[in-house]
Parts: sequence; structure tokens; C-alpha cells
Amino acid sequence: MSDQISRATFDQVMVPCYAPSDVIPVRGEGSRLWDQQGREYIDLAGGIAVNCLGHRHPALMRALQEQADRVWHLSNVFTNEPALSLARRLTELTFAEQVFFANSGAEANEAAFKLARKYAWDHAGPDSEKHEIISFSGSFHGRTLFTVSVGGQLKYRQGFEPVPAGITHLPYNDLAALEQAVSDRTCAVVMEPILGEGGVIAANPNFVKLARNLCDRHNALLVFDEVQSGAGRTGSLYAYQELGVTPDILTSAKGLGGGFPIGAMLTTRKIAASFGFGSHGTTYGGNPLACAVALAVIDTLDDPELMAGVRRKSELICSELAALNQRHGFFSDIRGRGLLIGAQLAHHWKGEARRVLDAARNQGLMLLMAGPDVIRLTPSLIIPDADIHEAITRLDRALNDLVAEGPATS
Ligand SMILES: *Cc1c(COP(=O)(O)O)cnc(C)c1O
Repeated sequence: MSDQISRATFDQVMVPCYAPSDVIPVRGEGSRLWDQQGREYIDLAGGIAVNCLGHRHPALMRALQEQADRVWHLSNVFTNEPALSLARRLTELTFAEQVFFANSGAEANEAAFKLARKYAWDHAGPDSEKHEIISFSGSFHGRTLFTVSVGGQLKYRQGFEPVPAGITHLPYNDLAALEQAVSDRTCAVVMEPILGEGGVIAANPNFVKLARNLCDRHNALLVFDEVQSGAGRTGSLYAYQELGVTPDILTSAKGLGGGFPIGAMLTTRKIAASFGFGSHGTTYGGNPLACAVALAVIDTLDDPELMAGVRRKSELICSELAALNQRHGFFSDIRGRGLLIGAQLAHHWKGEARRVLDAARNQGLMLLMAGPDVIRLTPSLIIPDADIHEAITRLDRALNDLVAEGPATS
């Protein structure tokens, strides 16, 4: 198949909403990938914070293969054992009492936003106009019409208007603006504990606490979008557990399936009651294959040693990046939580994240960007230290290549 299929095929037969890399990976193992030509890469992209246990993790392989031998799909006309086991695990390990399964982050958020509206409607009454959703500039919540509308990046909703109404965007980490905006008309405040797509920017703990207090004061729900920050990414199962603030609704996806598509919305029994029979649903949500794999992911991540490893590897990567930066002066800031790491491009390389990604790929290293000015790393949570050292060596070579070429914009 590799003989006939190439990157050029993409331009012929795929809707052009992506601009994928020139190489097509065909095989993975741990934190390494191989392309059609057999070239090997270190994978610090991790499928955008999805492959939290790397490629071909034995526990995930076993879970998928065993479930594949039993039953693939039933729909929600029946429930199934993997979905129930996974929901029970998630409720044991978090604040949540009940779970709704979807297939992606956008769908988990769609469910969360609809539930927040419905809960306000149920409790404040249909005439209360308690339907305002407050969210933040730079935030990302998915690509459905509702989620691009709540998301704080204009470029994702421009051209798709009219979009759903009743949504207010505020600056992230602006305590005064938040204090002023939340009112009795607010049904939910929606935030990422760390802006992922928006540049790897962590919420100020006081900002998060204020959001919790204002939601309590005005009977609004606090919704944490942990699609990117969850599933162990920050060094705890969910980032809220480090912030000392508990949301009313939490969404999870990306790393939850470790590479198998799944999304989940977690909430309390009282709030869940507003999604009574027939009020919401999805055909594939709670699919046995997806839930069996996610259960293996959660069981593997429920390990203090693995979580401590995330924090240690985070320090290792950040200190190696800082040392590299001593030589190249490429970055003006290196930040993040756990293995969600952002490196802000310094002034003279501003806007050139894509070139850095291409140069890294040419040296056998897969990176991500978060906007044109930030290099983002979301490696496997169990990436071997040796792969981290090798990745930094390759990044060093890539940056040397770029310095030799010089910035495009001067
Ligand atoms: C990726 C992401 C989403 C969307 O998830 P999809 O699976 O692409 O629909 C939503 N919120 C955050 C914070 C994300 O990082």
C-alpha cells in the first residue's frame, strides 16, 4: 500500500482542512515513530496529548484485543460492561458521581454546555434568562458550532455565523473582569485549567478560586475542560486535583483513550439529573472497545510512581530546554504543567513555529505548535529519559540548521 499512497494523495482525496506533515508515519513503538521510508523519529507530539502511554503499550494492546474478541458495539439501547467499569473507576478517582460518554473532546464539551443550559432552565425556570456562558479569550473547546462559539479564538468561528448566542468572552486570568461579569444570568463559567491550543498558559490559582466563588454566589456551574490537561498530563489524573478547586462538570478526551477515540463528561448526580431520559445521546458513546482501552489507560495512570515520573520528566525536559536555550536564545519563556510544555519563541523567531517543526522533523523529531509563536511538547507520560536526551540532541541540531538559515522575517 505504501507504494501507491503518499502525501500527495492527501491533496487529491482529502478535504483540505488540515496541512499534514510531508512524512506519513506507519509504525510506532513507545516514543518512537517510523515513516514509509523507514526513517525513525522521536515523538514529542504524542498525537496532540493523546498517546499518553506511547505507542503499542502492552496493557492497552491487551485490552483492545480482548474486547475485540467479545463485542465491538451495542449502542445505548444496551449498556455494556467496559462502559460501566470505566464509569465506576472515573467516579472512584474524581469528584464525579455520574458519567456521560462521547467520542471526542468537542462532543464531551457539547454535552457539558448543553447540560449547563438545561440545569439552569430546570432550576431557575424557563423565563429566568439564566443562560449566559462565560468563557475566555484564547480558549479552545472543539470544532462543533457550539464549541467554537464558546471557544475564545475568533478564527475558528469566523465565516460560520450565525453562531449560538448568550456567550461572553473575557480575558484569561483577569480577576477583575471575571468579578464584574458573573451575574445571576450566568449559567456556567467554562475554563481550561491550562490553555493548551491557546499557548500553554496556566490559570492563576486565585483566578480559579474566584471563578469557584462567583459560581457559588450566582448559582452557576463551573465547567473545567480537561480534554488536554487531563488523563495524567499534568502529573495528577486531572489538573483540578492540584488546584484545590473542584468543578461541577469536567470534560475529558484526548489522553483518556490513549489513542482510541473517546470523550467523557463527568458531573454530580444532582446536575446529571437534568439530562433525563431522551434529553441527550450519541450512538457510539460508551463503545465497548473505546471503554475497554480507556479503562486500561486509567488503571495504568492510577499509579503514584507513574505520576511522580511525569513531574520528574517535566523538570528534565524543561531544564534541558533551558540549557539548550543558553546556547541558541531561541525561546523567551519555557513553561507548562507536567508534560504539557510550551516554549515561547523569542522576538526574532516570532511567528516561525511551523519552520521550527519542519526543521525538527528533518532531524528526526516530532514537535507540536500552539499558535505561531509557541512550540508545544506533549510526549508520552512514560517517555524514557534516554529518548528525552536524544530528542534534545536532535532539537539542538534543528535549531543549528535554523540559525544557519536565519529568520525569514528580517
Ligand atoms: C483538543 C481539545 C478539544 C477538542 O477535542 P476533539 O477531540 O478534537 O474534539 C477540546 N478542548 C480542549 C482543551 C482541547 O485541547
